[in-house]
Amino acid sequence: MTESATAVREFHDDEYRDTHNDYIGWLRRNPRGFVLNLKTQKAAVLHESGCMHIADYSDPDVSLTDKRKVCSPTSAPLKAWATERGITWTRCGTCFG
Ligand SMILES: [Zn+2]
Repeated sequence: MTESATAVREFHDDEYRDTHNDYIGWLRRNPRGFVLNLKTQKAAVLHESGCMHIADYSDPDVSLTDKRKVCSPTSAPLKAWATERGITWTRCGTCFG
């Protein structure tokens, strides 16, 4: 699998099975990437890939993609993605703090 530098990937459990594992795989391949976590349809929080808020997969019964995750190796495409959809976002105080 190849991914361009500006690839934006969406991970959400509604779309197909094994989204959670695909998302974890993306995090591992993009340790310095960025993730938008959609809290609601119109509000998101921007995280870095390694943030504990989005990358804690210690509980196998919890799916991290229950809430939509939008991922990119760089933050600019994610900001554009959100703007196009009228989604307001804030930076996570933990990983950007
Ligand atoms: Zn964070």
